[in-house]
Amino acid sequence: MELVTGGAGFIGSHLVDALVEKGKKVRVIDNFSSGRMEFLSHHNDEVEIIKCDLLDFESLKKTMQGIETVHHLAANPDIRLGTQVTDTDLKQGTIATYNILEAMRINNVTNISFASSSAIYGEAEEMPTSEKYGPLLPISLYGASKIASETLITAWIGTFGGKAWIHRFANIVGPRGTHGVIFDFIHKLKKTPNRLEVLGDGFQEKSYMSVSDCVNSMIHLIENANKDVNLYNLGTGDTCSVRRIAEIVVEESKIDQVNIEYTGGKRGWAGDVPKTFLNVNKLLETGFKPTRMSEETIRDCVIDLIDEIGL
Ligand code: NAD
Repeated sequence: MELVTGGAGFIGSHLVDALVEKGKKVRVIDNFSSGRMEFLSHHNDEVEIIKCDLLDFESLKKTMQGIETVHHLAANPDIRLGTQVTDTDLKQGTIATYNILEAMRINNVTNISFASSSAIYGEAEEMPTSEKYGPLLPISLYGASKIASETLITAWIGTFGGKAWIHRFANIVGPRGTHGVIFDFIHKLKKTPNRLEVLGDGFQEKSYMSVSDCVNSMIHLIENANKDVNLYNLGTGDTCSVRRIAEIVVEESKIDQVNIEYTGGKRGWAGDVPKTFLNVNKLLETGFKPTRMSEETIRDCVIDLIDEIGL
């Protein structure tokens, strides 16, 4: 039995789909803060859904019984929130990961696959940034919670044994997305169809990986990377600017004459890293190749989300 924390969320629900397709039995735990039951409603007996908060340690311990691998995806996904509430990432990120590891130790569960982020690199001086880059100096509270979680995981493996796969995601986009730049742009256009406000100068540049490539690469690494700690950047090996994303959203919206307005400044909000570009050679060397690069991934996502959200 596989356990997916945050399995009712955007990436988590796609991971559940992929695991079920591989014939696995899956248990999901989620507090449904941003996750949705409808993302899992197409599954039957092969998926057990437990409403549980990772901060409720006693309940969490019980959900670990009979688990082979924990896929730990639950977290606050909103980097911007840290600018207003300063303990969310500490609790939902760092302490939640501690609870997972401790519940695993007590129940003799040894394998953990963890959703980390490019945010741990902060404003890296090496582009593209490889897994060997350091020192790691994140500039968001979210990034701090991810690197703290990574270090707790390696400490647990070093002290108590087991195996870990740490995936440092680029921006992940696709159907069922409930946050992020594409989601925001579509909602803004829905509200004011002739005006699209872009936070920052629009020259922010990031890698965009499709959610299907993301979950398939996670599973591929679990099956093919066999060290005690397996650390990989997951992305496409290219980037796309926020300006280009705004243009694609406008093109696919089929609305005539949209005025794209920039709020200015090199970052969208405090803690936003203007350029992230992950070196994914280590992933490619394992034989995994993303099916789509950033721009194609974005266009497909825009089409899917316009279909889901409506305009
Ligand atoms: P999401 O918000 O859709 O998924 C997170 C899920 O965790 C939700 O279902 C939410 O209800 C659940 N959750 C949150 N706190 C919880 C708690 N205390 N107890 C139980 N459940 C809880 O976000 P997502 O984009 O699918 O992100 C999944 C993971 O991937 C997160 O760890 C996120 O930090 C990481 N990540 C995402 C991206 C991206 O571009 N989407 C990039 C880098 C890393």
